[in-house]
Amino acid sequence: MMLKCQPTASHFIDGQYVEDTDGKLIECIYPATGEIIAKLHSATPKIIEMALSSAKLAQKSWAKLSGTERGRVLRKASDLIRERNHELSILETYDTGKPLQETLYVDATSGADALEYFGGLSGSITGEHIPLGEDWAYTKRIPIGVCLGIGAWNYPTQIACWKGAPALACGNSMIFKPSEMTPLCALKVAEILIEAGAPKGIYNVIQGYGDVGASLVSDRRVNKVSLTGSAETGKKVYASAAASMKHVTMELGGKSPLIIFDDADIENAVGGAMLANMYSTGQVCSNGTRVFVQSGIKKAFLKRFAERAAKIKIGDPMNEETQFGPMVSEKQRDIVMKYIAKGKAEGATLICGGNIIEGDGWFIEPTVFSDVTDNMTIAKEEIFGPVMSVFEFDNENEVIARANNTNLGLAGGVFTNDIKRAHRVVDELEAGTCFINSYNDAPVEAPFGGVKDSGVGRENSKAAIEHYSQLKTVYVRMGNVDSPY
Ligand code: NDP
Repeated sequence: MMLKCQPTASHFIDGQYVEDTDGKLIECIYPATGEIIAKLHSATPKIIEMALSSAKLAQKSWAKLSGTERGRVLRKASDLIRERNHELSILETYDTGKPLQETLYVDATSGADALEYFGGLSGSITGEHIPLGEDWAYTKRIPIGVCLGIGAWNYPTQIACWKGAPALACGNSMIFKPSEMTPLCALKVAEILIEAGAPKGIYNVIQGYGDVGASLVSDRRVNKVSLTGSAETGKKVYASAAASMKHVTMELGGKSPLIIFDDADIENAVGGAMLANMYSTGQVCSNGTRVFVQSGIKKAFLKRFAERAAKIKIGDPMNEETQFGPMVSEKQRDIVMKYIAKGKAEGATLICGGNIIEGDGWFIEPTVFSDVTDNMTIAKEEIFGPVMSVFEFDNENEVIARANNTNLGLAGGVFTNDIKRAHRVVDELEAGTCFINSYNDAPVEAPFGGVKDSGVGRENSKAAIEHYSQLKTVYVRMGNVDSPY
């Protein structure tokens, strides 16, 4: 099958598409039908070497441009992405199975936001002047060098841009390795950057399974690693990066709490919980999958949730009316079904869903469990699918303790009309990103990332600049050297 804007080869290195058919086959499958839409090849050592030497060489001259010049390229790329949003969204839908109703609004567009935002910031990346009597020191904010981006499969365009835009704004080059399940979209980002005037080699994309990522992480020419993936992979990559003291950003998994108090607006709370569990068929790292509902509102909450869930339009992701697509792969569908079986076996009450939808593709029903207790498997492990667990609670202190009783800490949310309680509760939540009367907003202007095992560093916002640059301090003596020797 040939898609309208399908990339023409597996890798994009030094400004052009490159192929090496000796690499292990990667079949890109459209999750809604199971059809193979593209065949690519994992990077061979030859391809990896090409990507590294090109990125290393390109970074030096890219860093010598002014920030405004670099920013101009990023902003132009952002404009091109917006112009082509429709075709890029179709590609994202083929890559991931997410419905067009989502991809048209949150994938290429949020990538464009990142390029525009960091393109705008690029000219303002400065150090400071430090007066020291008649002497003085100054700092320069300098690039880190060659950055490696490793992506998960749920937001392939967004992740490629959220990592690439700040890296390039700071004068680094990037090698990006997408998940082998969604290899197509990042190639288009690389292609568009070149069209926007980026020098060749500053953003290379190579495909591969985990072993390709691992060999790049251990290469001394790579100076920083930014991973979006599971906490388990994050620990391995972090350890390997430490061997050569690389900088890291780790955006990892979560098991985030969403706390709904009796006084919450019920329609908003139900809407928030749906966004927190069903968007992208539940394949979102920051999802609020542990929904703690205060006892007084629980019955009404579950009733309204089930009513609204029954109306979710499931089906062909290319139909703009469709709200809920398939899981990304057969493997991921099976993982989620195993968790659903565990939920049933361990005594949770199934409120709705719980089944595979027969037919083509990897569809499962939006699923809600109630009467979930804190020690059940579905309460503890990240499922990464459309499975919401509802817990009952009575008071604030109790729910905060239960919400924090996890090694993960990506996000957390609270629905209440008591403004003081809202702030008190988010202050206590052990999470990097919190929401009050909302869930899963991720504007580029605000930092995003986790605490505890959910990661280190932050993406987006001015904070990302600190994670893609480093300081050089220069001491300037104006008088004579006062040496005792
Ligand atoms: P994985 O952790 O399995 O993989 C993430 C990426 O790392 C993939 O590109 C993978 O390649 C690569 N990889 C795997 N092993 C290694 C290794 N030893 N060295 C270097 N690279 C390696 O995650 P998934 O792709 O399954 O994504 C789902 C996970 O991502 C969920 O746990 C989710 O919570 C998390 N996530 C976190 C987000 C955040 O911002 N915090 C956002 C989105 C997802 P390959 O696929 O080829 O094995």
